[in-house]
Amino acid sequence: MIPLCEPVLGSRELEYVSECVNTAWVSSAGSYVTKMEHALAERLAAPYVVACNCGTSALHIALKLSGVQPGDEVIVPTVTFIATANAVDYLGASPVFLDCDEYCNLDVAALERFLDSRCESRDGATFNRASGRRLRAVVPVHVFGTPVDMDPLLAAAAEHGLAVVEDAAESLGSLYKGRACGTLAPVACLSFNGNKIVTSGAGGAIVTWDEGVASRARYLTTQAKEAGMEYIHDEVGYNYRMNNILAALGMAQLETLEERLSAKRRNFARYEALLGSDRLVQQPAGCESNRWFYGYLCADQTARDRVLTACEASGIQVRPLWRPVHLQKPYARAETFDITRAIDFYARLVNLPCSVNITLEQISKVASTVQQADNG
Ligand SMILES: *Cc1c(COP(=O)(O)O)cnc(C)c1O
Repeated sequence: MIPLCEPVLGSRELEYVSECVNTAWVSSAGSYVTKMEHALAERLAAPYVVACNCGTSALHIALKLSGVQPGDEVIVPTVTFIATANAVDYLGASPVFLDCDEYCNLDVAALERFLDSRCESRDGATFNRASGRRLRAVVPVHVFGTPVDMDPLLAAAAEHGLAVVEDAAESLGSLYKGRACGTLAPVACLSFNGNKIVTSGAGGAIVTWDEGVASRARYLTTQAKEAGMEYIHDEVGYNYRMNNILAALGMAQLETLEERLSAKRRNFARYEALLGSDRLVQQPAGCESNRWFYGYLCADQTARDRVLTACEASGIQVRPLWRPVHLQKPYARAETFDITRAIDFYARLVNLPCSVNITLEQISKVASTVQQADNG
């Protein structure tokens, strides 16, 4: 059995978690939470990091602190994990879904077309002409770890008064023009879910440039409790903080990030040598993806189905691309704009096994199985 993406843990993880148990420091007040926040801030060269119990809650708070309000609209790529859209819905706002580009990322040219052709500006704010609602934010997702083309996206957002929240859940260690994903917008979120490049079992973080956002994030994720002995809460808060056990696990993982990055990148290159670069989703020039997940494009949907079946029969765990979010039941009535490539990628894309400890023999077996089934 070759798993799609299994967590790889070492003795450090056990040592740090044992320390939490032995000292009974298991809650979010433990020292590993702060250690992990500082280590992430240092690795990303980001001023503020607030650890959370998962990436979805980090995204929820990041959007809230970016001003997303009930009745607003938020631009979300249709090719993403559903959590991105769900966080918008939690705030009573509606996602507007846009297509992906050849890198599986939000198509920035489509974003510009949408803003220019479908929206209008009033008093420095942007409104969707069809719905009459205010367009408040855009959420670029660095899909599979590949950086979104952020410079034109940030320019378009600034021109139209939109907040930008980076969903960097998959892109810890990726660089866009030399700058770390997770620091390209004023607020970003990370995830340390079990299959991410660094895992804490479950976990996430809010990354920000803004001291005010960081302290609001800390406050809202700890039930909006005022400082001091008394239980005073002036707002509705959330129980979203990371605990010390998760942070201990995550901290041990983070210490091996560089090795993880080189394994992901080396294994991508091995697949590429065997399968051909035209078949694997690439990264744009000027970017250094962490190569978290590998997207293989089959000839067509029939070939894709053959690949899924052949891999299943050979004990190779592969997955089709996420069903585009605008096709998911909760979002079936959401607004969409010219979505075509996402449909094609959904029909043809397969994610290949990518655990950091996958062997060259396993990669060769996957490649030959996939290639044979794809060619029919
Ligand atoms: C993993 C992931 C999330 C959510 O993270 P959790 O930690 O699982 O809540 C959000 N967005 C994207 C793109 C992800 O891949």
